[in-house]
Amino acid sequence: MSSRTATSGSESSTRNPSLPPFDYTPRPYTGASADEVLKLRNRNLSPSLFLYYKKPLMIVEGRMQYLYDETGRRYLDGFAGIVTVSVGHCHPYVTEKAVEQMQTLQHATTIYLHPTIAEYAEMLAARMPGDLGVCYFVNSGSEANDLALLMARLYTGNYDMIALRNGYHGGVNSTMGLTAHGTWKFPVPQNSGIHHVMNADSYRGPWGADDPEAGAKYAGEVEDHIRYATPGKVAGFVCESIQGVGGAVVYPDGYLDRVYRSVRAAGGVCIADEVQTGFGRTGTHYWGFELNGVTPDIVTMAKGIGNGAPLGAVVTTPKIAEALKQRIHFNTFGGNPVSMAMGKAVLEVIENEKIQQNALAMGARLLQGLHQLQRKHDIIGDVRGRGLMIGVELVKNRQTKEAASDECARIFERCRELGLIIGKGGLSGNTLRIKPPMCIGEADVDFMLAVLEQAFQELEGSRAETIAP
Ligand code: PMP
Repeated sequence: MSSRTATSGSESSTRNPSLPPFDYTPRPYTGASADEVLKLRNRNLSPSLFLYYKKPLMIVEGRMQYLYDETGRRYLDGFAGIVTVSVGHCHPYVTEKAVEQMQTLQHATTIYLHPTIAEYAEMLAARMPGDLGVCYFVNSGSEANDLALLMARLYTGNYDMIALRNGYHGGVNSTMGLTAHGTWKFPVPQNSGIHHVMNADSYRGPWGADDPEAGAKYAGEVEDHIRYATPGKVAGFVCESIQGVGGAVVYPDGYLDRVYRSVRAAGGVCIADEVQTGFGRTGTHYWGFELNGVTPDIVTMAKGIGNGAPLGAVVTTPKIAEALKQRIHFNTFGGNPVSMAMGKAVLEVIENEKIQQNALAMGARLLQGLHQLQRKHDIIGDVRGRGLMIGVELVKNRQTKEAASDECARIFERCRELGLIIGKGGLSGNTLRIKPPMCIGEADVDFMLAVLEQAFQELEGSRAETIAP
């Protein structure tokens, strides 16, 4: 472990959990202080950005599953830069391939031949089921979903698009339209032709996990919506394979299969947003849609695909791709050699280091521990997810399910003080999101659980004090 790892006041207590040892010394940081950076940011960056934590955290270095702040203090990263660092911060192999490419040729567009884009597309297509084999490369998840929406409309000749409430698909105009989280929707025209149907959420929705017909009933909502609110023909349906920003909502069995059939019967195509769930994160499957037993017509990817490279992709069938041939589709940075080299390296690392298998094993250990915590702490209303895509929803009362948003914020802050970085989501901000780089080990999982245990115990202690006369 780094000898420079600082011990802050809250970390120094002997009863606090200790981070697993890690043989790495971060570089001495000599740049601007966090206060200075905050001042500059406030002066020159968008005022609509938001920061995690009351006292913002400054991250200056990362190595595999760990992050370092400017004092050299180490944190376990349980959020992977918003589910993006799939195989580890500055993974040596991915870095080596990126640097090698940077030193050879940083930029070329698709108007010339370049080997890496061709090799990478072949590797990616080989990992897709069915006819999904034509790749488009872009730079973000928003761009990928924007392109998928265009494809759906061009291919089908239809306009209406079905998406789920509580879904997140990006922040550009068209994908803001697909998104159904009021927090992210600006009051400008962006919903044209997009319908948001009831979310298939067995925890909050009308049909719970104990209802074997829940999947069919939620799918019935889509069917009704198509009948009532569209011309009976739709361009398509899009959903995340497990909702990410919405707090790791997993759909009931049979739901997507029936929705896909109904959407196809209405002339539409089915789009799987794999921006968070792809590349083995769910543990049992390489793609999240496989959990739901379906094969989409269009798959969108970003975030974990490049381990931090600004890379997004859309993969579709040759038939659908034909529809885009009527005009030129071009993206200056899409498929650039450096992103392609990083994408290729990520696929290799996932295979060589058995990343998916690790996500399965570590996810199972984490979920088991979280379920134990749920039995001890009433505030934990729901523990859900697959592999290393996990949500812990906090409620004030298990019957009413009133969101425990303030309590969630306190747990979240306390985890940071104790050396664990996690995410927060759901419309009410009451779901802890745990989605670490998929290279974490058992000792990391045990540290996470110990930190969360302590944070919940302290919260309950303080709640008992408040309630006491
Ligand atoms: N889809 C999903 C499921 C996402 O989580 C996100 C980003 N949070 C996006 C799309 C948009 O990706 P980007 O921020 O790269 O545009």
